[in-house]
Amino acid sequence: MSRDGAGSWALALVPGLMVAWLAGLAGGLGIWWTILLSGVALVAGTAVWVLQPGETAEFPSSPAPAAQRPVARQPAELFEAVLGTMIDGVVVADSALNLLYVNGAARELLDLGNRPVAGRLITEVSRSAPLQEVIETALRSRTNQQTELQLPRQRLTLAVSAAPLTLDPAGGILIVLHDVTELRRLERMRREFVSNVSHELKTPLTSIQAYADTLLSGGLEDETHRRTFVDRIQEQAERLQVLILDLLRLARIEADDVAFEIRAVDVGEVVAECIDDRMDVATSKGVTLIRSAPPQPVIARAESEGLRTILSNLIENGINYTPAGGRVEVEWGAGDGSVRISVRDTGVGIPKEHQGRVFERFYRVDRARSRALGGTGLGLSIVKHLAQAFGGRVELSSEQGHGSCFTVTLPLADGVDGETLP
Ligand code: ADP
Repeated sequence: MSRDGAGSWALALVPGLMVAWLAGLAGGLGIWWTILLSGVALVAGTAVWVLQPGETAEFPSSPAPAAQRPVARQPAELFEAVLGTMIDGVVVADSALNLLYVNGAARELLDLGNRPVAGRLITEVSRSAPLQEVIETALRSRTNQQTELQLPRQRLTLAVSAAPLTLDPAGGILIVLHDVTELRRLERMRREFVSNVSHELKTPLTSIQAYADTLLSGGLEDETHRRTFVDRIQEQAERLQVLILDLLRLARIEADDVAFEIRAVDVGEVVAECIDDRMDVATSKGVTLIRSAPPQPVIARAESEGLRTILSNLIENGINYTPAGGRVEVEWGAGDGSVRISVRDTGVGIPKEHQGRVFERFYRVDRARSRALGGTGLGLSIVKHLAQAFGGRVELSSEQGHGSCFTVTLPLADGVDGETLP
C-alpha cells in the first residue's frame, strides 16, 4: 500500500477509529461494542481506499513525482477519448437498434454532421440493406458478422463488422466501420492494369502467329506476298518490344528502390538531342519542329536520361498528333527556383473530358489512331512518373482542334538562378 491510496486509507480509517473509541468511552459501551465499532471502521477505511475512482492495479514501492503520476480518469472520459480518436467508425446500439453511441469517425463516414443521434434508430441514420442484414444476423446468431457497404452519396466503400454485445437488459450490437475505398480503388486499378497488359500483348502476338501460320501453310511459296508477311511479323515483334520496354521503364520508375542519378542537367543540350533525333520524322510528315532557346543556359536538377525520355515522348506525341503543315515547338526557361519546359503543338488537341485521364496507363483518346501510330498508351504515364521522381510535375492545356501544350516543371539546379521563363 502506498501513494494516494495509503493516504486515503489512513484518512478514512483514523476518524472512524476515533469515533468508535470516543463513542465507546463516552457512551459507556462495553469493551466488546468498542472492538466491534473499530472493526467496522477498519473495514470502511479499507473499502474507501479500494473504491478510489480511477485507481490502477499498480502499487509502486516509492511515491512517484507528481509530474509522472498517472492522471486518474473516469471510465466514460477514457472511453470517449479512445473511441473519439479512432480512425474507424464505432456505433453502439441496443437490441431494438436504438443508437447509444456514435464516435466522430462514424459520424463523418455516415455523413451525420453534428446532429444528435442518441436514441434514434439505426435505420434512420443509414438505410443500407446490407447493414441492416448484417446487424440482424449478428443479433440473431449471436456471432460476429462482416459485410461491405457502398455509400454512393459519400463515394465510400466501408468494411462493416457487427458484433453482438452483452448489454443490460436485452443486449445490443457493436458496429465497426472501416474505410476501404482507397484499397478497393488500388485493387481495381491493378486488375485493370493486368487485363490491359494482357490485351496489349495479345494483339501483336496474335498477328505474329497468324502471319507465321500463313507462311507455313503455303505462304512461303507465294513469292509475291511472303516478304510482306515477314515484314508484318517484324513490325509486330518491334511493337511487342516497344511495349515491353515501356512497361519495364514504368515499373522501374515506380519501384521505390530505384536510384536516379540526379544532377545538374543543361536542358538546352537535352532538347537539342531530342529534336535532332526526331527532325527526319517530323520533316517527312510535313511538321515543323522548332527550338525556342532562352538567352542563357537553363540548368535543371534531373537525370539526363530521364529528361531525354520525357522530352522524346512529348515531342513524338506532338509530331504524331499534328497533321501536315502544323508545328511543334519546344520552349524552356527558369524562374522562381524551377525550370519549365513546354512542348506545344498545333495538332488535333485533346477534348476537355479526356484531359484529366491521358496520364493514366493505357489511356488513349482514340485507341485505333494511337495503335496505327505505334503508340503504347504508356508514354504520358512515363512522363508523369519521371517528372514526379525528379521532384517536378507535368501539366496539360489543350483545346480540341487547336493543339496541346504539355509543360514540365522541374527543380532548378542549386546555385543556379535566372529569370528566363517563357
Ligand atoms: P500513346 O502511345 O497512345 O501516344 P501516350 O500515353 O503518349 O500514349 O498518350 C496518351 C493519349 O493522349 C494518346 O493516345 C492521345 O490520345 C493523347 N495525346 C497525347 N499527346 C497528345 C498530343 N500532343 N495531341 C493530342 N493528343 C495527345
